Amino acid sequence: MRRFFVENISDYAILKGDEFEHFKKVLRGKIGDKIICICGDGKEYLCEVDTIESSFAKARVLEVENSDKDSKVKITVFMGIPKGDKMEFLIEKLSELGVSSIIPFESSFTIAKPKNKQERYRKIAIEACKQCGRTTPLNVLECLSFKDMLKLIKNYDVVYFAYEQADGGTFNDAKSYKNIAVIVGAEGGFSEEESKLIVEAGAKTVSLGKRILRCETAPLYAVSVINYLTNN
Ligand code: SAH
Repeated sequence: MRRFFVENISDYAILKGDEFEHFKKVLRGKIGDKIICICGDGKEYLCEVDTIESSFAKARVLEVENSDKDSKVKITVFMGIPKGDKMEFLIEKLSELGVSSIIPFESSFTIAKPKNKQERYRKIAIEACKQCGRTTPLNVLECLSFKDMLKLIKNYDVVYFAYEQADGGTFNDAKSYKNIAVIVGAEGGFSEEESKLIVEAGAKTVSLGKRILRCETAPLYAVSVINYLTNN
């Protein structure tokens, strides 16, 4: 059944904007159609469309179900701003893998500049959310400076720092934690000084193997391993 993301749901869900256009123009939706609506509250609402106007449609809630598709372990990925469209790729893929938030950051070797693309990122996250069945879209936060990123490390149960020069650190203790962060560098990685500061701030270095992964491969690898170890 088709899924739609709406702002909030009470007895009714209202499809507006892009979701309405998609329902009406692309899917040629009609009164009486059954759809699933989500609004980011961990529930799935089975609804029946009973009103279609020129700019919105109204769907009456028939049934509410708690979803089992959202992650039980909260995973945040701190990501050095990658070049080009790689952030968009990561939003889609990390959504599928159940990541809660991506926090981009600048460091001395990041080449790409922070992009003012929050609206586009939100759209990609909502599309990915609908496609993969989660009920809450991944959140992409504003870009942080390296210093501000370091300050956030203490907010997590554990922070894994993916460092290609790590001497064999693993994710083996991941199953003990519920609020996990991963730090991955951009194309240029980290300076030695930065890597020291990350460890001093309390992160745990981990290796992702002997080969050097691209910055868009590394978080997918890290999160997949965490998901496996935590049955997430
Ligand atoms: N500075 C490096 C590579 C950067 S790869 C160079 O140019 O040689 C981008 C990021 O992916 C790294 O900062 C790191 O966070 C992660 N990464 C890539 N391969 C890794 C590995 N084998 N182990 C741990 N982290 C890795």
